[in-house]
Amino acid sequence: MERLNDVEAKRFSALVLTCADGRLHGPNNLVKWIPGLLGYDGRDGVVSYDLISVPGSCWKLARGSAMDRLGVLNDLALLIDRHQLETILVISHRNCARYGERDPLKEDGKLRGDLAYTRRLLRQSFPSVSVLQAIACVDEVSVTGVQLLKPGGEFQPPLLLCLRKDSV
Ligand SMILES: [Zn+2]
Repeated sequence: MERLNDVEAKRFSALVLTCADGRLHGPNNLVKWIPGLLGYDGRDGVVSYDLISVPGSCWKLARGSAMDRLGVLNDLALLIDRHQLETILVISHRNCARYGERDPLKEDGKLRGDLAYTRRLLRQSFPSVSVLQAIACVDEVSVTGVQLLKPGGEFQPPLLLCLRKDSV
């Protein structure tokens, strides 16, 4: 298969890996936050990115079977090659059914641990690609805030101060 031309490749230079949870998707949910998380300033007009949405997002890479892990990595490898991707943004979220953890502190520890593992795995597998990571806060129906993680796994600013989506 031919590679996309330069113009098309520029439009698809990023990929978002996130959970399949319906609260993350739709016109007023993650799609509203992702351009800012990727550093787009809006000057280019249309913002377009590839999307892989699987239950638990990085849970599958960190805790899934070897076959689970290989399946996601193979999908990533295909898209990175064909679309010349430069950035992968991994977004986990609070209250994720895949984790099934009712204690927010325990869930937070699992999310951070799996994000750290996923960062190492993606950097080893795709050394030319930048890895960004974030955790989304959700209520019963939608995203209420998203925090980008520093490379060391810390939030900036603290997650408890999740921004409301109407504040951006
Ligand atoms: Zn989830």
